[in-house]
Amino acid sequence: MSAKIIDGKAISDFFRAEYKLRVDRLLALGMRPGLAVIIVGDNAASEVYVRNKARACESIGMHSEVHALPAAATQAELIARVGRLNADPAIHGILVQLPLPAQIDDRAVIEAILPEKDVDGFHYANMGALVIDESAYPPCTPYGVMKMLAYEGVKLEGKHAVVVGRSNIVGKPQAMLLLKEGATVTVCHSKTGDLAKFTRDADVLVAAVGRPNMITADMVKPGVIVMDVGINRLPDGKLVGDVDFDSVSRVAAMITPVPGGVGPMTITMLLGNTLRAAERRAGLNKGVGETMFA
Ligand code: NDP
Repeated sequence: MSAKIIDGKAISDFFRAEYKLRVDRLLALGMRPGLAVIIVGDNAASEVYVRNKARACESIGMHSEVHALPAAATQAELIARVGRLNADPAIHGILVQLPLPAQIDDRAVIEAILPEKDVDGFHYANMGALVIDESAYPPCTPYGVMKMLAYEGVKLEGKHAVVVGRSNIVGKPQAMLLLKEGATVTVCHSKTGDLAKFTRDADVLVAAVGRPNMITADMVKPGVIVMDVGINRLPDGKLVGDVDFDSVSRVAAMITPVPGGVGPMTITMLLGNTLRAAERRAGLNKGVGETMFA
C-alpha cells in the first residue's frame, strides 16, 4: 500500500481563498480584520515565523502589525503593550510569539490578553472553553490538523485516535478536539511505557513530540491515517517530522509530509481565528462557508 499524501499547502490555499472572501465582506462593512504580533528579543526562528504571519495576513487583505521589543524588555513593559493592543479597535487578534526571554513569565503575559483577542487560544478562558466544547479559538496547530482531517473526509466518530505528545499548545488541545468529534482518544508522552503498543492500535495517529523519525513502520497498523506535527532539523539542514515518512507511507492510508503538511495550516488557522474575532466584533457570528466550530 502507498499512502495518499495530505497536501497541507493545497488545503491551506483552499481555506485562505475562503477567508479572503470573508475579509472582503468585512471590508465592505468598513472593517479590516487586524492582527498584532509581539516579538521580544532577536530569536532568528521567531523572526521568520513572525514575518510569515504578517505576510499571510496581508495576502488576504488583513491588517497586520509587528511590535518588536528588545530582549531586555520587562514583563511590565510587555503587559503594558498588550494592554494598549487590547484597547485598540483596529486590532482583533493579539499573538505573543513564544518563547519569551527568561525574565518574563509566559503565562502572566498570555493572561493579560483579552480572551476575545487571544487568537492563539492559549488563555485560560479559551483553554477552558475548549474542554467544554465551546471554543471560539482552538489553538492553531491542532485546529489545523482537525481541518485537514475534515477536508480529507475522515470520519472520526468511533475511531481510535492516538496523540503522541501532551504539550499545552499541541498534544492536549489536539486530544480535546478529537474527543469532540467522537474519537476514542489515547494520549501518550515520555512516561508512556510501551509506546508502540498504543500507536499500533491507532486508526488516526497524531505525532507531536519533536524527535526526528521516531514513529517507524513497525509502530503503526496498515491503513492508519498519520498527521505529523513534528518539525525537526537534521544536522545536514534537512527538515523532517516525528514520523519516518519513507517507511510509514508504505503502510498508512494517508499521511502528512514534513515540510508541506501540518505546518502551512498553523498560520492559516491563525488567520481564521483572527477573522472570526473580527466577525464577532462586527456582529457576524457565522462566517461564509465555515464548516467547523463556526
Ligand atoms: P513539547 O516539547 O512542548 O512537547 C513534546 C511532547 O512530546 C511532550 O509531551 C513529551 O512528553 C513528549 N515526548 C517526548 N519524548 C517522547 C517519547 N520518547 N515518547 C513519547 N512522547 C515523548 O513540544 P510541542 O508540543 O511544542 O511540539 C512538538 C513538535 O511539534 C515539535 O517538533 C515542534 O517543532 C512541532 N510543532 C509544529 C508546529 C507546526 O506548525 N507544525 C507548531 C508547534 C509545534 P512529556 O510531557 O512527558 O515531557
